[in-house]
Amino acid sequence: MLTYDENGLIDILGLLPEELEEQILLMGEKKFRAGQIFEWLHVKRVGSFDEMTNLSIQLRDKLKEIFCLKSLFIVKRLESSTDNTVKYLYRLSDGNHIETVIMEYNYGNTVCVSTQVGCKMGCRFCASTIAGYKRDLASSEILQQIYTAARDSGRKITGAVLMGIGEPLDNYDNVVNFLGLVSHPKGMNMSLRHVSLSTCGLVPRIYDLAELKLGLTLSISLHSSNNKARSEIMPVNDRYDINELLEACRYYFKVTGRRISFEYALIDGHNDSRADAQELAKLLGGFVCHVNIIPVNKIKERDYRSDRKAAERFRKRLEALGLNATVRRTLGSDIDAACGQLRREYEI
Ligand code: SAH
Repeated sequence: MLTYDENGLIDILGLLPEELEEQILLMGEKKFRAGQIFEWLHVKRVGSFDEMTNLSIQLRDKLKEIFCLKSLFIVKRLESSTDNTVKYLYRLSDGNHIETVIMEYNYGNTVCVSTQVGCKMGCRFCASTIAGYKRDLASSEILQQIYTAARDSGRKITGAVLMGIGEPLDNYDNVVNFLGLVSHPKGMNMSLRHVSLSTCGLVPRIYDLAELKLGLTLSISLHSSNNKARSEIMPVNDRYDINELLEACRYYFKVTGRRISFEYALIDGHNDSRADAQELAKLLGGFVCHVNIIPVNKIKERDYRSDRKAAERFRKRLEALGLNATVRRTLGSDIDAACGQLRREYEI
């Protein structure tokens, strides 16, 4: 995808191989150069044009006049002492901050990436949205979160979740371009089967995403089983209510064959009663899905709370009602890995 920086330079890391090839041909260079450059960027993952040592110095200088190659600066790295979670606070080239987390599962390392600086969605329990929205991330900035984390940690990254700061479907074009880049066989070649995209429910974009048939897992931040309760904690519900959302999910499943994952942040006294479980089971009955229960992470601005015991109780209730549910493993709790909390300390 063609994007330009403030100096009118093309963001080279955001280009798919065929787009890079087009640019290289426009420069009057040979086509095979594009393949070499793509490999430097996405396989060897260099940080500058000068490291592309099989290109002549003249060509490297020419590239610098047309393209930019930006990197992320690691401001902070927090490593959990209880599991192998690592959390990064990165500074972007314009001075904004974002967060990225590496989580270790038995099948490999997964990176949780941010898609925007801040968020417009206004979910009441979420730290990422409290200071509002600043800007969308470029696809290269989403990708660099993974490349930088992989390089710094020395770990092999096999999966990604779009569950960091921001609403991925509110930055649709960049997110789709990122998915194309990260899964490209000539680049990182990550299987989209190992990628999950989480959304608060931007319904028209769920339909768009379904049409792309990408094979990724769609996670829906549901968090309530009725419109009144959902609207209280998620303003997006006033735009697209639960019925519209579930209709879009049915369509997504029909077109892609991929089971939907519903996220349910359990909040004491708000959505954790026996009646809530019954209502949720009724709502999702017949749906090919999975419910992921997360005891709400406490943020300092709100008084929402829950705990693992309550989450386990709720899970048992759902299971008895025939729903497939798990309690999300808490990773990195000693380093405050809940999204948006670290960035907030730096931005204000
Ligand atoms: N905007 C997207 C993705 C980012 S948030 C979305 O809404 O899905 C990733 C997940 O973390 C979402 O399910 C979100 O609702 C949840 N989340 C945010 N703050 C939380 C908190 N304090 N406790 C538990 N889950 C939280």
